Amino acid sequence: MSPDRNRLHLAIQKSGRLSEDSLALLRGAGIRLSRGGKSSLSARADNFPLDLMLVRDDDIPTFVADGVCELGIVGQNVLEEYALGQPERRIKEVARLGFGRCSLKIAAPDVLTFFQLKMLEGQRIATSYPNLLRRFLESNGIRAEIVTMRGAVELAPRLGIARFICDLVSTGATLDANGLAAVADVFESEAVLVRSLKPLDAAHLEKADALMQRIDGVIATQESKYIVLNAPEDALGAISAILPGAEAPTVVPLVGRPGHVAVQAVCQESVFWETLERLKGAGASAILVMPIEKMML
Ligand code: ATP
Ligand code: ZN
Repeated sequence: MSPDRNRLHLAIQKSGRLSEDSLALLRGAGIRLSRGGKSSLSARADNFPLDLMLVRDDDIPTFVADGVCELGIVGQNVLEEYALGQPERRIKEVARLGFGRCSLKIAAPDVLTFFQLKMLEGQRIATSYPNLLRRFLESNGIRAEIVTMRGAVELAPRLGIARFICDLVSTGATLDANGLAAVADVFESEAVLVRSLKPLDAAHLEKADALMQRIDGVIATQESKYIVLNAPEDALGAISAILPGAEAPTVVPLVGRPGHVAVQAVCQESVFWETLERLKGAGASAILVMPIEKMML
């Protein structure tokens, strides 16, 4: 397939843990996709000059580094593992996307009641992330043998391939089911938007910037809330200090209530019940918290 020069190309995981959230993010950014058949390797946006490449997540860094796709969505674990194996950086993380969170951990047989990192010295550790594991071991001054496996790493101890493993964990249920327990954190990961460091021509650059700005907007709205409340004027200082991540709230007078004002603000951090209780404690009343549908920063 030769890429269409007039369109932007974004690589996402075809089917797996990142696929649904990647598509949802694009939908949130107003991208409408006309997808080919289920087995199709690409999809086309009909209201934005964007083509999606649907591939295995492991291939995404290569596609983006080579410039076959200008952009990609991939886990930091896959990105960093790839980058550590390359002599130069040809790909750059441009936004954290807030999904696909997991961590790469070392796990030991759960019969081991006591664990210290130095117990890894001279041991075999099975993993699909040899570069990340090697960096971790080196930075801790441990020499161990890394056994690289493509998948089913959690079976390695039972198969007698390695005593320890280093694998992605989110809930720990898989480790548990295999008689393993996490003993050390190697790398924290979430899905990120990446871009190629190959220079883009002006037309592609403009499209890429527009898409990245929309994606930034979607991420910002996920956490952001619009808050409206009433307050005595002399409590304004205390109330502004409590509003999470709000810059310069709007203050408007309330007709018929001298000394009282309405405060409106966009809060760019989560607003919890505790926040509302503190606002009330500082003198606020009639507090409304509203979702924000779209935002362009
Ligand atoms: P592919 O067929 O695309 O190679 P895969 O089996 O390598 O798929 P998935 O299991 O779908 O990949 O995981 C994709 C990404 O999702 C991981 O690289 C990681 O960034 C993220 N992820 C989030 N939670 C977990 C988890 N509990 N286990 C594994 N990956 C997770
Ligand atoms: Zn994969």
